[in-house]
Amino acid sequence: MLHIYAHRNTVPKTMRAIAKVDAASGLKLIEALVPTPGPGEVLIRVKKAALSASAVHTDRWDHWAQRNISPPVIVGHEFVGLVASVGPGVADCHPGELVIGEPCVACGNCRHCLGGHRHLCPDAHRLGQDRDGAFADYVCMPQGAIWHADPRLATDLLACFAPLGQLVRIARRFDMLGAHVLISGAGALGCMATAIARHAGARSVVVVDNHTTRLGLAATLGATRGVDTREANLGSVMRDLAIRDGFDLGIETSGSPAALGDVLNHLRLGGQLALLGLPSDEALPSWGQIINKQLIVHGIDGRDNLRDWERLTLALHSGLDVTPVITHCLPVGDFREAFERSAAGDPGKMILDWES
Ligand SMILES: [Zn+2]
Repeated sequence: MLHIYAHRNTVPKTMRAIAKVDAASGLKLIEALVPTPGPGEVLIRVKKAALSASAVHTDRWDHWAQRNISPPVIVGHEFVGLVASVGPGVADCHPGELVIGEPCVACGNCRHCLGGHRHLCPDAHRLGQDRDGAFADYVCMPQGAIWHADPRLATDLLACFAPLGQLVRIARRFDMLGAHVLISGAGALGCMATAIARHAGARSVVVVDNHTTRLGLAATLGATRGVDTREANLGSVMRDLAIRDGFDLGIETSGSPAALGDVLNHLRLGGQLALLGLPSDEALPSWGQIINKQLIVHGIDGRDNLRDWERLTLALHSGLDVTPVITHCLPVGDFREAFERSAAGDPGKMILDWES
């Protein structure tokens, strides 16, 4: 079900872009050359792009960013846009089509790619990290990293498909039906995880954070209980909810070593743990607890995108509602405000409108 949008026939030579220009804190709105799609590549005009935790790390230039970002680079990897033009040899992708790009651009040739597991490609390049990203008027990607989006869904929502796809991967990996789920972090990722866990049949979803407004948003997304770690502890909440043995599944979205320790303390024997939150510094988990509790730990980085995005689209058409997570849509010129709000812990997801 493809829909061709009206699109600009001419592509300008230069464009706006938000870039990490050098190895220091901060980002700059620059004028950059519009890339020309080579053989097998697609040029996309970005409509909406979403701030991610990694974009905030990149702005801050913390240890994670210093290890993973190669300036100068245009940042951003969560986006939706329209095909503007295609390079030689591109089939089934036409100007005006609404598309999302997989942020992790796989090589397409290794055994993992050829086996259909592109998210495991060891030679992948990441948008906004080691290849130019999507906080720009245009972004260029190989056709194999393009996914045709459902035009019935709002573009704000489609801009968030990258993190939502990660969470769908958790729902496919772990059986949430009737499970007690513990989510650490009530940022955008934790709130989206809350809605998906409820939709997937969790018996209870307890969300832990130290920010009252964020916990309020988690409640809107369906959290059974929000726990402000400054005022309450998980043990009393477990007693209230008659959770005797511990949580069945922990989803760590905060990147905080202390929060991870709290999750480990409250998982049951044989429990499962999904790790998504990027730590600013290396954080060692309580190794002994993982052994003694015989935990199943799964690092989640990226999507098995075709399956995850198809399943996400179907879930969104069958009652999954994550729209309350999207709290701000700002014009590109206000990008500094969006980053500062995110860094300060404002609840919800910040969207940049590249058509503004
Ligand atoms: Zn590969």
